Amino acid sequence: MANHALQTTAERETALLAPYAMFSSQSAGRRYHESEHPYRSPFQRDRDRIVHSAAYRRLSGKMQVFTGDMGDYHRTRLTHTQEVASIARTMGRALRLNEDLIEALALFHDIGHPPFGHAGEDALNECLQDDGGFSHNQYALTIAEELETRHQSFPGLNLTREVLEGQATRVDKQAEDIHPLLEAQVVEAADSMTYDAHDVDDALKLGLVTLEEVHQQAMIRICVELMGPRVSDLGPAEYKRALIHTMIDCQVTNVLENAGPALAGFGWTSICEIRQSDYRIGPVGELAEAKSAMEAFLYERVYRHPELVKTRERAQSQIYQLFERYVANPDVLPDRFRKRIELVGLRRSVGDYVAGMTDRFFEQQYLGFVG
Ligand code: MG
Repeated sequence: MANHALQTTAERETALLAPYAMFSSQSAGRRYHESEHPYRSPFQRDRDRIVHSAAYRRLSGKMQVFTGDMGDYHRTRLTHTQEVASIARTMGRALRLNEDLIEALALFHDIGHPPFGHAGEDALNECLQDDGGFSHNQYALTIAEELETRHQSFPGLNLTREVLEGQATRVDKQAEDIHPLLEAQVVEAADSMTYDAHDVDDALKLGLVTLEEVHQQAMIRICVELMGPRVSDLGPAEYKRALIHTMIDCQVTNVLENAGPALAGFGWTSICEIRQSDYRIGPVGELAEAKSAMEAFLYERVYRHPELVKTRERAQSQIYQLFERYVANPDVLPDRFRKRIELVGLRRSVGDYVAGMTDRFFEQQYLGFVG
């Protein structure tokens, strides 16, 4: 292809991005050298590798908060991921950050979730407590660097350092020396505003909480006020949609109205300065407080709802049982995980195998092997 007419990544980014954005030309590159692509930026290539990975496709079979047998309308890990990417890109574009990097980070952020969400994570963490534990954020890196294969000459997806580092900052969010790029901060902010909104939506739909209870939340009162008099014309379904939409919209607006001037004021012109700063993109003021209260409400009334607790306990017990069954019978592991025992040990290899399973595949294995 004659590509002299195509705008280069550098030209496009120079025209569009703010000085504090992560420019592709500043990327620390990949572990295994690859030549540049004629028309895709390194972060676009990362995004494409993630979308084409098996682990990404399996997100459609992994629960977010509610299991597949609770209905067909609520979020899965995949649709959650897509919502995060969409909201993060909106914020990234408004702040003139690198949208390609944001999209790659967003599509990647939950790729390491085991079956049955955080219940599965807790169970695997316990199974592996003497072997370094299990964290879905860390497992995402194992997927990207070891388990996925896209090229014969090296293991993993060979993603850029920026995507791997962005994910690595999620592993221990409390660590003091963590200084994520602004692109990673935007994804982090988008993740929490996305699940707050969709968990309220799904919990209402599934009847775990009532609209009356939700209305007692400061966050919802803010939204109702923003929606104004038009709410009286809406039917119940339209009203709920408007409420969830407003919940996302007001959080995005709050973040942009605060982060935009703050970033302009700092006058950063390189990622070195960002890596030395403690500034974090996120909601501020009254809305941030209302958001925390909303999360406490979700925790109490939704995540600890008896129906979810029951599901969680069943999933955890099944994970313990299947895990130990594999440890006792490593011969039944697929070839690659049997070979992997030499590299990472038996229990870790079993953990890596189980963590990759979709909810349904896990249940099939459990029924077939444990009963
Ligand atoms: Mg997430």
